[in-house]
Amino acid sequence: MIMIVSNRMKGLHPYVPGEQPKDRVYIKLNANENPYAPSPKVNKALIDFVQSHPEKMGLYPDPDSTELHAAIADMLNQCGGVLCRAKVDGDKVTPSEKDKIPFTVTPDMIYTGNGSDEVLSFVFYAFFDSGKKFVMPEFTYSFYPVYAGFYNIPMDTVPLKEDWSLDVEEMLKRAKSDKGGIIFANPNAPTGLGLTRNQVREMLSKASSDEIFIVDEAYVDFGGESCIPLLKDFKNLVIVRTFSKSLCGAGQRLGYIVANPELVNIVTTVKNSVNHFPIDALSQVSGKAACTDVAYYVETSKKVVEERDKFYDFLSENGFYVIKSQTNFLFAKHPSISGEELYKMIKNEGLLIRHFATPGIENFVRISIGSKEQMQALKEAFEKVIK
Ligand SMILES: *Cc1c(COP(=O)(O)O)cnc(C)c1O
Repeated sequence: MIMIVSNRMKGLHPYVPGEQPKDRVYIKLNANENPYAPSPKVNKALIDFVQSHPEKMGLYPDPDSTELHAAIADMLNQCGGVLCRAKVDGDKVTPSEKDKIPFTVTPDMIYTGNGSDEVLSFVFYAFFDSGKKFVMPEFTYSFYPVYAGFYNIPMDTVPLKEDWSLDVEEMLKRAKSDKGGIIFANPNAPTGLGLTRNQVREMLSKASSDEIFIVDEAYVDFGGESCIPLLKDFKNLVIVRTFSKSLCGAGQRLGYIVANPELVNIVTTVKNSVNHFPIDALSQVSGKAACTDVAYYVETSKKVVEERDKFYDFLSENGFYVIKSQTNFLFAKHPSISGEELYKMIKNEGLLIRHFATPGIENFVRISIGSKEQMQALKEAFEKVIK
């Protein structure tokens, strides 16, 4: 059998997602999904679409997702790119002082893909080169090394500092040699820690302008600082974001880029060379509808943040080492119970959390923040097993 596959195929190391067991109903706090359903406006838009335009499912969708891109740009202008800090007055949403974007985000600055995982794949293809090493943190989103393998791009991984934050100086130093580009998640996963916008600005000022800088903002809506305002000054910056976490849309498979139009066009060229229609008709409709109810997602993001901070206190009070998180998850370790043991004991209680076997972080568990009820159940399970 193995004889018939390409050499390329033999070298693949696929990503392993959080488990999705079918044998028993678990409370799922292992994949950083949002516990809340999308806005009711999303459901309504989907129902209207299939009822009023059933014939449209037989037609190809808009390959340029024109209306969706306009809706995303509008959503970002409303909230400033960080939902949990935005101000809501009735239906009207305005950015917090800290998050104001000093220009208007326009639709030509948006590119959408089938989840930010696909977006990232195209970004890797477009901007990283097989002849040059790109720089990333040692512990970060584990899909980056998968793509590096897939596209045969060499990588240079920089250890985190002792407090689990990014070693900015070292990353810049290494980036100088090959100029192969930099990627990191901000806030980072699985640690939950973020750099401030000023720290990223400083990095960009020190890096050379002919080097690509990719910032993955999958979790920024839960308390990080978005780098969107930096796009005005840095033409080599690409920001990757997703509907999967703060927009309660992991099932929708929508991710996007915010960047200068020139870079958006480059990624669009990659897309048009692989699959012209990555965003299906239903996702275009539901994504657009989500962006019209920003107030709803400000609300749900605030709820997640509140539960996260409560659970942080609970873990700290019970002897855990917990990293202060700006995301919808907590990364924590118990002084005497290993990550794997803890994960198993909690699973036994009917809840799934995530444990990574990766050396260096093997004693941690990553806990996605659920609803108030789910977190109460998790608290009870923890109390039982750490006794
Ligand atoms: C969840 C996640 C993604 C992937 O999101 P999708 O849009 O669901 O593909 C990308 N980057 C990071 C850091 C994530 O945690």
